[in-house]
Amino acid sequence: MAEPNTNQSNGVSTTPKNTPPTTTYTPRYIDIGINLADPIFRGRYHGKSRHPDDLKGVVGRAIEVGCSKLIVTGSSFKSSRDALKLAKEFPGTVFATAGIHPCSSSIFSSTHHKHHDESQSEGEGGEEAEHTPACGPDPTKPILDGDGVDHARSTKIMTDLADLITQARSNSTTTTSNSPAAELVAFGEFGLDYDRLHYCSKEVQLHSFAAQLQLAASLTLQLPLFLHSRAAHADFVRLLQEAFGPRLERLEKGGVVHSFTGTAEEMRELMGLGLYIGINGCSFKTVENCEVVREVRLDRLMIETDGPWCEVRPTHEGWRYLVEWEVKAKAEAEAAAAAAAAVAAEAETAAAAAAEAEAAASDPTATPGAEGEAVKPGRRQRQKKPQQQQQQAKKNQKKESEVPERYKVVKKEKWEEGAMVKGRNEPCTIERIAKIVAGIKGVSVEEVCEAAWANTVKVFGVDS
Ligand SMILES: [Zn+2]
Repeated sequence: MAEPNTNQSNGVSTTPKNTPPTTTYTPRYIDIGINLADPIFRGRYHGKSRHPDDLKGVVGRAIEVGCSKLIVTGSSFKSSRDALKLAKEFPGTVFATAGIHPCSSSIFSSTHHKHHDESQSEGEGGEEAEHTPACGPDPTKPILDGDGVDHARSTKIMTDLADLITQARSNSTTTTSNSPAAELVAFGEFGLDYDRLHYCSKEVQLHSFAAQLQLAASLTLQLPLFLHSRAAHADFVRLLQEAFGPRLERLEKGGVVHSFTGTAEEMRELMGLGLYIGINGCSFKTVENCEVVREVRLDRLMIETDGPWCEVRPTHEGWRYLVEWEVKAKAEAEAAAAAAAAVAAEAETAAAAAAEAEAAASDPTATPGAEGEAVKPGRRQRQKKPQQQQQQAKKNQKKESEVPERYKVVKKEKWEEGAMVKGRNEPCTIERIAKIVAGIKGVSVEEVCEAAWANTVKVFGVDS
């Protein structure tokens, strides 16, 4: 169960005595889809080391913003094993999924050359094979054709995947004496991706998805599903129903369709089947995308970054909700500062009056001028404020500072400790997802965070 997470400001140093203490909400997030097993978080880009391994910094920044749980996506044998290792390295913070992504499913095909347990993303081979599958279509790549399924190979793959899952469950360590932390929290990432048939043909993707669904359904103790569906809705739903029944009534632990970019109708059908919807930066690209997000019910919502992919960009429709949020936050901060200044001025006047009365009582020869000067410096200080605010407002008009970065962002060539790398999305940006969803739906960030937290804990049990 989700516990209310409120942070009461004690008001010791700044809040005047006559103002009641304010209750501010401290957001908490679970990133349900973060590809931390990608070598990019170790400083490796396309097979080359570009900067020091800063994975700990990435996890540290996530925790700093309140993203205290990370579900690391396994999308191939290698990334699933690496995700499980990370879960051991960061117990109670990192959890793992295990499965074979549609874009890594060419391991099932007769033309595949390497052993299925060797590389990360299989479709391309070479340098890009190191990285987890990126989000979105790539029209520059040719579509694979006539890439059939190798059934003998498939049997071996599925045996190995079943073993991997069994092993992960039996090796699970405990974080505390009374709460077993299941490191493996979901079956996946798997599904269908018809936008990226250049990594794997439709025929092989369908086989990969169906075979993994069969394994998922046959587990004595089922796992929740972490699903991927792109431009393949009808086949996606059909295969799920074939494995778990027309209402998915045999799907015991539920599941999430992550990185959702489909239509409102598709989303309603998935929610109707009891599935959850994962929202990340890719879900805010267009006006239509944002209209779909508006219709995602709070009790079906999960949020994610899908880093290193899917960052929210200024060109995305969703960006304007971040700008709106900043404008509102700034106005609120200014109003609070003005109110505090008014209270301080009042207190200062009262103190000056008291001092004057005291001075008059103890020194009958005191001149009015001396008392006047004692008040002035304070007034001058206060008068500076509107000017500072104007300068700040001018700065904010610049496009690039519309939405300030919480951490410094540098190019990978200029990597420095504590900075984010430009173009490499990471889990600390999840606060943007929550703000945009809140803006689109017209609800508070607190409602979004608490709903997503509760849904995620309910399905994946990451807060036991
Ligand atoms: Zn995906």
